[in-house]
Amino acid sequence: MRYIEPHGHMVSRVTDDYVDMVTAGCQAVCEPAFWAGYDRSSVNGFHDYFCQLTDYEPKRAAKFGLPHFCWLCINPKESEDVKLAEEVISLIPKFLDRSNVLGIGEIGLNKNSRNEVKVLEMHIDLAARHNQMILVHTPHLEDKLKGTRLIVDALKSDTRIRPEGVIIDHVEEHTIKIAMDAGFWGGMTLYPESKCSPARAIDMLENYGSERLWLNSACDWGVSVPLNVPYTALEMKRRGWTAEDIDKVVYQNPLKFLNQCRKFKLPKV
Ligand SMILES: [Zn+2]
Repeated sequence: MRYIEPHGHMVSRVTDDYVDMVTAGCQAVCEPAFWAGYDRSSVNGFHDYFCQLTDYEPKRAAKFGLPHFCWLCINPKESEDVKLAEEVISLIPKFLDRSNVLGIGEIGLNKNSRNEVKVLEMHIDLAARHNQMILVHTPHLEDKLKGTRLIVDALKSDTRIRPEGVIIDHVEEHTIKIAMDAGFWGGMTLYPESKCSPARAIDMLENYGSERLWLNSACDWGVSVPLNVPYTALEMKRRGWTAEDIDKVVYQNPLKFLNQCRKFKLPKV
């Protein structure tokens, strides 16, 4: 089996996770910028984090033969402070030329506050000015529906943004249609506690078809399972999916989306 992990917070994981992912058939991992497990106290914390995502972590992944890519932003959980967000966003352009940077993400909303919306719009403008793809985080639980609508409205109101270059991640049953109808890609995050289970993700794929959708494990600081994509592939097989149809969801779809960035390259097998 082969698959791509399109959303994994590898700085929070141990080397055993890299070994397990590669053993299971992972061909590449993509790491959106996220919360560090604590709020960073200044713009310098983000500078160091962007160096970690673009320099140290790709080297750590390479020790296990795994190509590592990343997305940059100040994440929604830390974007209540608009002044700090302005400082972080002004730092990002100098990192955009680095060889493993795919675009701007994971941007979006956490609590749907006014300041978060302002920072989201600043990120969308940054992506548009630098012709970057976008990866979007949508809020949790009761804030998800409203947050997804606010995010889609913000993206659609900027005419410079190509919908096919945007993925709305963490979609669930009540938000998947909003993302798909607007022409964006959708990501389903497989999680043992919150978010979406493998069974629910497969139900959604069977209801909506497997165009413009990917699966990811997120695997961050919380309780999460870095092998949830291959585990879900096994569950798909059990439910009668063909090997070809599974490959489309776990490998070809992320490849198609990520190939829009010329820097996304897999080593020739
Ligand atoms: Zn994430």
